[in-house]
Amino acid sequence: MTLTPEQALEQAALAGIHCLRIPTPFAVGRVNCYLIEDEPLTLVDTGPNSGKALDELESQLGEHGHSIDELELLIVTHQHIDHLGLAEIVVQRSGAEVAALGVAAERLANFDEDAEAEDRFAIELMLRNGIPEEVTVALRSVSRSFRGWGSHVGVTHPLGDGQVLPFRDRTLRAIHRPGHSPSDTVFWDEERRILIAADHLIAHISSNPLLTRPLDGSAERPQALVTYIESMKKTREMPAEIVLSGHGDPIVDHVALIDDRLAKHERRKEKIHALIAEQPRNAYEIAQAIWGNVAVTQAFLTLSEVIGHADLLVNGGRVREVDGGEVTRYEAVV
Ligand SMILES: [Zn+2]
Repeated sequence: MTLTPEQALEQAALAGIHCLRIPTPFAVGRVNCYLIEDEPLTLVDTGPNSGKALDELESQLGEHGHSIDELELLIVTHQHIDHLGLAEIVVQRSGAEVAALGVAAERLANFDEDAEAEDRFAIELMLRNGIPEEVTVALRSVSRSFRGWGSHVGVTHPLGDGQVLPFRDRTLRAIHRPGHSPSDTVFWDEERRILIAADHLIAHISSNPLLTRPLDGSAERPQALVTYIESMKKTREMPAEIVLSGHGDPIVDHVALIDDRLAKHERRKEKIHALIAEQPRNAYEIAQAIWGNVAVTQAFLTLSEVIGHADLLVNGGRVREVDGGEVTRYEAVV
C-alpha cells in the first residue's frame, strides 16, 4: 500500500528524521533540511546563508528540543547554495563534523573561486551556443548577487560512493547520483527503506540537469542530462518506500515518478529532434522555438535543457554538432 506524503513524513519522524522547511530567496521556495535524532545528532543540509534562514533553522530545531550548538554531524547533499549556505555558521557554533562526497570536497572548500570558475564556464558555453552577450552579462551579475547566500564548507568526513555512515540506531549509505549537480549524493537507510535524496528527485518539479564543470577539474563539458538519466534509472531499482526530497513533499512512489520523468525527457528529445530536422539551429534558437523569449534568469536553465536533450540525440547518432565558427549548430543526420 502506498503511503500519502503526510503519512510518509510521519513515518520518517517516527524514525527520528524530521523535515525542517527553511526559507530561501530563490524561485524554488523553501528548502528541506532534515534533523536526524540519533548519535551523532545530525543535520542534513542547512538552507541558504541568510538571517531569516538561520532564525528559522534555530526555531525549527527548537521545536524538536534541539539547538544548532548541539549538532554533531552536518551532511551536505550537493554543491548548491540553497542547501549549504549556513554550513560555516553551523560548524562555527556547533563544532559539528561535516560529511560530504569526497570528490566534491575541494570544490566545497573553495566556494568563491569555484563560483567564479563556474561563471566563466557558463558564459563561454552560452556564447558558444548562441546566447547574446548582453544576456550573459546580465546573468553574471545575477550569479554574483546570489553568491552571498553561499558558503565554503570544510569537509571533515569525505565520503566514497557506497560508503556507510554508522549511527547508534541506523546506518546510511552514501550513494553518488550525479546529474542535477555533479556532486548529488543520496543517503539510503536500507532497513527502513528511506532514501534521503535531496534534489536528485523532487515530486512537483523536474530537477534541472544543470550544465556544470566536472568535479575532477577537467575542461570537458559533462553530459548532465545523460548522466542524470543514468542516475534516475539506478534509483528506480531501489526498493525505497519513502524518498525525502530537497524541496516539496516526500515521494511515495519513486518508480512512477521516475517513469514519468523519463517519458517526459523522451518526448522533449523528439520535439527537439523535429526542430533540428526542420532546419539546422543552435541551442539558443531551439530554446526560443520551444519557450519563446525566455526570461534572462531562465536562459542558462533552458540552455541546459536543450543541450542535454541534444546530447542524447548526438549520442544516438541522429544529430550532429556543426562548428559554425563562433557558434555551434545542430543538424540532423539523414
Ligand atoms: Zn540543487
